Amino acid sequence: MTAPVIEVRNLKTYFKTSGGIAKAVDGVSFSIPKGGTFALVGESGCGKSVTALSVIQLIDSASGYIAGGEVLLNGSDITKLGEKEKRKIRGNKISMIFQEPMTSLNPVFTVGNQIEEAICLHQRKTAKDARALALDMLKKVRFANPEEIYDEYPHRLSGGMRQRVMIAIALSCKPDLLIADEPTTALDVTIQDEILKLIKELKDTMGTAVLLITHNLALVANNADTVCVMYAGKIVESAPTAELFKKPLHPYTQKLLSSVPAISMRGKLLDTIPGTVPSATAYADGCRFSGRCHREMQGCKTIEPVLVENEERHFIACHLFDAVFLAGVNSTHVTRAEAYLPHIKNALVKGGAIVEARGLKTWYPIRKGLLKRVKGYVKAVDGIDLTIKKGETLALVGESGSGKTTAGKSIIRLISATSGEVVFQGRDILKLGGKEMQGVKPLMQIIFQDPYSSLNPRLTVKEIIEEGLIILKPGLDRKRRLKKIGASLEQVGLSADMMSRYPHEFSGGQRQRVGIARALAVDPEFIVCDEAVSALDVSVQAQILNLLKEIQREAGLSYLFITHDLGVVEYIADEVAVMYNGKIVESGPTEEIFLRPRHEYTQKLLSAVPRL
Ligand code: SF4
Repeated sequence: MTAPVIEVRNLKTYFKTSGGIAKAVDGVSFSIPKGGTFALVGESGCGKSVTALSVIQLIDSASGYIAGGEVLLNGSDITKLGEKEKRKIRGNKISMIFQEPMTSLNPVFTVGNQIEEAICLHQRKTAKDARALALDMLKKVRFANPEEIYDEYPHRLSGGMRQRVMIAIALSCKPDLLIADEPTTALDVTIQDEILKLIKELKDTMGTAVLLITHNLALVANNADTVCVMYAGKIVESAPTAELFKKPLHPYTQKLLSSVPAISMRGKLLDTIPGTVPSATAYADGCRFSGRCHREMQGCKTIEPVLVENEERHFIACHLFDAVFLAGVNSTHVTRAEAYLPHIKNALVKGGAIVEARGLKTWYPIRKGLLKRVKGYVKAVDGIDLTIKKGETLALVGESGSGKTTAGKSIIRLISATSGEVVFQGRDILKLGGKEMQGVKPLMQIIFQDPYSSLNPRLTVKEIIEEGLIILKPGLDRKRRLKKIGASLEQVGLSADMMSRYPHEFSGGQRQRVGIARALAVDPEFIVCDEAVSALDVSVQAQILNLLKEIQREAGLSYLFITHDLGVVEYIADEVAVMYNGKIVESGPTEEIFLRPRHEYTQKLLSAVPRL
């Protein structure tokens, strides 16, 4: 067996906070051999990124510290090294790439300067050799024109190109370990596929070990050799990838996997995990997953399970696999009521078209010269036809920049369209005047991707929802408005008592529920969901998708679902329209598009999607 490049033994990373000591990583052990890919998965706040930062020795010393354990790099414990020695290791022996490459690249230096800087910091090279090496790295990360890219500034490159530059910097010193923390989360599915193939190719040729952190389980299934599931600072299950996906044993892993939307779940509610990850300052004594677990038994809350090898290389920390524990307690499991959700029958009688876009164009003029004359147009939306039926969901898919969001916003007149028609309830709303449009606005709402930035942090939830009601439902008095706010919060699974809270007092999933409540409060008939679940963990995403489906079933709403996540599309959409360069290149019923994609672009898009 190959000696591990990195071996983490009982690592504990704690932070001093005003609420006490936060045990972000609390006794984690794993190892990665040369050329191996090891994935860490779990919900946000489980300690994945802190584990990675501890491995590369980048914990903020103002509040964080390694409270125990070892990180052995090629057999030597690097936690004991001084800051100077640690600096020599970072970027040289261990490199890291992050989710958003723009924040890691310096905007005032060229790409070439930044790769050379990394090379010169760790290797004794002449300026000429460093330049040659930088150009070679740009070639290795598949830039066809390395000389040109060398002189470019990061802001002039696309997201995928920037991430390739980050990989070039990270691998320029041929590190023993590459840490990739959500390396493709911000990228389109086709670019994601390219970046992962590139990391694999470079790993195979250079023998670099890879620590992959992601919340995308399909991506793990297709790229990692070993998977570790983290929950509340601990590893709860670890196994070779194929084994873990075939036979997940821990209740948390099972729930994570069953909350991933897939075509087989159409017409059913997705499985969800109730509650949220506990705060790292207040872990209970027993199993940290108790309270959320559908298999919870007597004793789970008081006795902490330990990680044991259940089958060869398949480790698990759960009392269900502890014969001694099971013998000591009543063997009947306390199964929670929500363990298996019933299938939903769509009781709604689906109708004809509620919204029809015909020849819709949204062009932006390009002005040049002293007189700012129009020299051309950016054709963001270029003559599209879409039909959204009553009580149904039409998914609009395509890469970033294809015009999806502009199309959605043009349809509800958040952006002015250049020409075409949007027929809503039999009237072309693009022709309506301000007064007439006032009556239509409440019926067409939008839910945005990032619930945090779309909610004003200075307003309470009541004020946020009331703002829309005052403008769009001026006939309601204060008492009726309050009643409406309470009812819409309850409709999305929140409590009316929460209306005096501010957005930061909610979790990510709850904030998205507030966004949905704001849209629902004005009694819409049609909602544009613009990447509404893209920023959420898979467990929270499942809750929101279930909620949207239930509301659709009860209220007969119609959705235009804008997304780049084709798994979500398979699950939620009745029809799909594929957008490319401002035009619809293919559309039809979801099954038809997924089973028999005809257009070359749709085929490319579908083949790039990682699957479980
Ligand atoms: Fe669930 Fe108990 Fe296992 Fe924890 S130890 S995962 S609560 S069954």
